[in-house]
Amino acid sequence: MDRAFQLAEEGLQAREVPVGCIMLYKDKVIASSRNTVNDTKNAVRHAEINCIDQVIDWCGANNEDILKVFQQIEVFVTVEPCIMCCAALRSLSVSHVTYGCNNDRFGGCGTVLNVHNHKGFFDKELKITSGIRKDEAVELLKNFYRGENPNGKWSFDLFWSV
Ligand SMILES: [Zn+2]
Repeated sequence: MDRAFQLAEEGLQAREVPVGCIMLYKDKVIASSRNTVNDTKNAVRHAEINCIDQVIDWCGANNEDILKVFQQIEVFVTVEPCIMCCAALRSLSVSHVTYGCNNDRFGGCGTVLNVHNHKGFFDKELKITSGIRKDEAVELLKNFYRGENPNGKWSFDLFWSV
């Protein structure tokens, strides 16, 4: 989780929504990223999606079966994955997601929509652990929304409540 928070901090410095994510496979970090939405001008470049791409690259480089690897992936992310990311993580059958604060606007792991255990859509439920260092995660978001978001026009209060 320390590394995920470092990445979120880097995101804040780079004027991105400060969310950091790492993915662990057999106790080894094989992907780590932060949001790069403003950087890439691509709205889907969330930290989790960037990490998913890195895992796929890692599998290619190490001759590993992508679907088997994802089933053993543990995700650590500073903010609850949004609906898009939660659906992606679940469709890849990752084993466990640990996150910091809730995402009150877009949370896909229960806050807005229960993508993680929606019956009849995915086979396997997604294990979730939430609230880890949530105050720090919220503080980073507050700092971001207090500052300027080059591509955003939303205030902290609109997107996040504490
Ligand atoms: Zn997302």
